[in-house]
Amino acid sequence: MKDYLIRGMDKKGRLRIFVAKTTNMVEEARKIHETSPTATAAMGRSLTAAAIMGATMKNEEDLLTLKISGNGTIGTITIVGNNKGEVKGLADYPQSDVPSTLEGKLDVGSLVGNEGTITVIMDLGLKEPYVGQTEIVTGEIGDDIANFYLVSEQVPTAVALGVLVDKDITTKAAGGYIIQILPEISDDEITLIENAIQKAEPISTMINNGLTPEEIMHELLGEFDMEVTDKIELNYKCDCSEDKIEKVLISLGRKEIEDIIHEDGESEVVCHFCNTKYKFDRDKLEKILLTINGQ
Ligand code: ZN
Repeated sequence: MKDYLIRGMDKKGRLRIFVAKTTNMVEEARKIHETSPTATAAMGRSLTAAAIMGATMKNEEDLLTLKISGNGTIGTITIVGNNKGEVKGLADYPQSDVPSTLEGKLDVGSLVGNEGTITVIMDLGLKEPYVGQTEIVTGEIGDDIANFYLVSEQVPTAVALGVLVDKDITTKAAGGYIIQILPEISDDEITLIENAIQKAEPISTMINNGLTPEEIMHELLGEFDMEVTDKIELNYKCDCSEDKIEKVLISLGRKEIEDIIHEDGESEVVCHFCNTKYKFDRDKLEKILLTINGQ
C-alpha cells in the first residue's frame, strides 16, 4: 500500500484530524541515511510530523522546515516538506544509537535529548517566512510537536507518531495522527476524544495491523460525524538538481572555484538529503567561472 495521509473534519467543523501512513517514506530515509534503529524511529516520527504539518499549508509553492535540535547524540534533525506530500530529511548523526528502554522500546527521547528547541519555518510566499520556536519537552517528538501547537499556536492538539522497526532493522510500520479541536467543542466531547486516544492501540501497531488512515480516523473519532476532506499521497522526495547545485557552486565565488580547478581539477557535490552525487569536471567548473566573471 502506498503512503498517504487524509485530512478529516467533523461535519459541524469543530475538530479536525490528519492521519498518515508513512512506512515507505521512513524506510526510504533509512536506506539513504543508514539510520540506526533508534534514529529510524526519530527520523520517521519527524518525517511523519512534517508531512502532516506540510499538509496544513495552502499553496503548492509553500515550504515547511521542521528543525529538532536537542542535546542528544543524533544532533539536529532537519525535515523539509510541502503540501503535495513530498518530504525529505537529514540528521547530523543518523548512525548514532542509544540502548533501548527497560521495557525494550527504542529510546527516541534519549537519542534526541530532552533539552533544546523545535523550530518550524513556513515559507508561505510572503515577504518574511513564519518562524515559530518552542522548547523540547521530552525529545519523543510527538509530545514536542503537541507542545509546539499549544504554546506557539494556542491550538490544543493531540499528536501520536510511531515507528515500528523490524528485527532486520528495516521499517515495519510507521505513521501518525494529529487531532486539533476548535473552541466550539464541549468539555464532554473533549473527554470523549481523550478516552478514545487512551483506549486506542499505539499508531504504529494500528498501521502494522493493516488499518488504513480512514479506519484509524474512525477508530479514534467514531463518536463524531467525520468526513474525509482531503487525501494526499506521501513520498520521500528530494528536489535537488544539477542546476541547483551549480547555483551553490556559483555562490562560493571565483576564488573558491579557481582553487578547486587548480587542486583537483573537478568537484563532486553530494546532496545530503538524498545522497545523489553531482560531478563537475574541469569544463563545467570553467563554465561556472565564466558565469561568475560575467556577474
Ligand atoms: Zn537531493
